[in-house]
Amino acid sequence: MLNLTIDGRQYSVSEGTTILKAARLNGIDIPTLCWLEGVNEIGSCRLCVVEAEGCDKLLTACNTPVQEGMVITTMSDRIAKARRTALELLLSNHNQDCFSCASNGVCELQKLCNDYGVERTALSGTRAQMPKALKADHPFLAYRSELCIHCQRCVSTCEKVSGRKSISLRRSGPLAIIDTPFGKDWELRNCESCGNCAEACPTGALYKKAGKSFRDWEVKKIRTTCPHCAVGCQLNLLVKNGRIVAAEGVDGPSNGRRLCVKGRFGSFNFVTSGERLTDPLIKDRATGTFRKASWDEALSLVAEKFSGIKAEYGGDALAGFACSRSTNEDIYMLQKMVRTVFGTNNTDNCARV
Ligand code: SF4
Ligand code: SF4
Ligand code: SF4
Repeated sequence: MLNLTIDGRQYSVSEGTTILKAARLNGIDIPTLCWLEGVNEIGSCRLCVVEAEGCDKLLTACNTPVQEGMVITTMSDRIAKARRTALELLLSNHNQDCFSCASNGVCELQKLCNDYGVERTALSGTRAQMPKALKADHPFLAYRSELCIHCQRCVSTCEKVSGRKSISLRRSGPLAIIDTPFGKDWELRNCESCGNCAEACPTGALYKKAGKSFRDWEVKKIRTTCPHCAVGCQLNLLVKNGRIVAAEGVDGPSNGRRLCVKGRFGSFNFVTSGERLTDPLIKDRATGTFRKASWDEALSLVAEKFSGIKAEYGGDALAGFACSRSTNEDIYMLQKMVRTVFGTNNTDNCARV
């Protein structure tokens, strides 16, 4: 263990702990923007700067490991000034058109500017002179270059969380650009449309298109389990005026905030689809067409057919194959019925295929 002092109080942390982690573990807030724990720890935004006794320079708390006996100050006039300057530099390349931004109200840059009283900047960044680029050909995701602060959270998330490396930071002439795969050739890129990059973006630069239809304070968030496979990812369904408008990952044991394309973008549209079956349908063998039936009629017909097969050929002529989208409870009930009613052990689940 290493001992250190933060804002006049003494703490012990294990070796290798960063100053940021040591502070947050002990309930002390240090602001960050580019930092994402275990994913993006590049120390580029300089919002997390702190003072260390005996050190002339401010240190970035997110990637500086604690050393024995360190005396850290997390807020002073000098630190506040440095953080305001960092924010002004970010704003110098950032279009403050908040009304049209998908992240208005939940933008981390907006919040920090508010916290530090930064409303505008007299500085004009090099990228602010460049033409705005909108990449919006992807069905679910879009990128607005003029809102991007080059924090690289999306780059690291795509590489380390989603395992795709579809987003990169590359040079274009004298400038660095964030190259996202949401333009015309999006289908040829390596993107699997999981949207984890948009979830990681602290501004509205890389956003989910569905997010344009609501503001965070307009939606009710309902925690549930993704219905699309047996992984059991945890998500919030965002509901506005009684309709599900989006899904967001929450920190569940099997997903740790991540979702795949099905959980993030396939969890809600079908709920109100006009193509949903709302009644049982029975096929007329003669005409090959379906007609609506009551549940009683449909279930009686199925029971009669199964009973007939069992009576003629025995229970082993039947099998029950459960859908991996069903809940554990439903799958349990199916195998129970197969074993006890059909009288066979012919039962399985398509998740094992
Ligand atoms: S949607 Fe997923 S795979 Fe595509 S760029 Fe974003 S993180 Fe990478
Ligand atoms: S798109 Fe968002 S996450 Fe990616 S570099 Fe720009 S601001 Fe950061
Ligand atoms: S988000 Fe994807 S991996 Fe997770 S449960 Fe849903 S379908 Fe499965």
